[in-house]
Amino acid sequence: MAVGVLALQGSFKEHIVCLRKLGVDAVEVRKLEQLVGLSGLIIPGGESTTMAKLAEKNNLFPALREFSTAGKPIWGTCAGLIFLADRASGVKEGGQKLLGGLDCTVHRNFFGSQLNSFEMELSVPTLASREGGAETCRAVFIRAPAIVDVGSSVEVLAEYPLAPGQAPQQEVGKDKVIVAVKQNNMLATAFHPELTSDLRWHKLFLNMINDGGEGAQVPGAERIVA
Ligand code: GLN
Repeated sequence: MAVGVLALQGSFKEHIVCLRKLGVDAVEVRKLEQLVGLSGLIIPGGESTTMAKLAEKNNLFPALREFSTAGKPIWGTCAGLIFLADRASGVKEGGQKLLGGLDCTVHRNFFGSQLNSFEMELSVPTLASREGGAETCRAVFIRAPAIVDVGSSVEVLAEYPLAPGQAPQQEVGKDKVIVAVKQNNMLATAFHPELTSDLRWHKLFLNMINDGGEGAQVPGAERIVA
């Protein structure tokens, strides 16, 4: 099976390295014809407005929508999460183009600027039950977004407990936000698993592909347990 990583900008190389460590044929995707035949796609972190502009310039939106509506698994990390969200807040006047499909509202820079980047041990019970290992994972948040609202068909995989005063003005009063979700063929994380040595998120995504990703079938695929 070949898995693509959208390689317009951002941390695509790091995802490629993780996928190759797991023995997967990992492909950089810049043009729409490179999506053909892929079993899944990762949309990396970076800068979501720049990524959207480059995707528009390369005429990728229709092909990406088709890929997603065909039920092929897509995983967005950080800027990739913003890209997949149906609704974004905290965006500049005029907005930015979103691929959508993930029924949630994401606050684009919920945790603030680069200076407010941080790492933590995040509790993810479903990661442990699905992929084994600890109930927490090291989560790297870089100018990170957060999900402030989800639709009923979205499975919440991880929540972040907010410290007093940590929420931006529009979200004052919240005591937690959502930072990892799954909805049908889509997985999204507000943080960067590709910057850690824990490959369980990549395995979880590969297993979504192998399990059929709610529509996509990969003939001969086996569950990744290594
Ligand atoms: N908040 C950034 C954006 O709006 C995303 C940051 C990241 O991907 N590390 O694009």
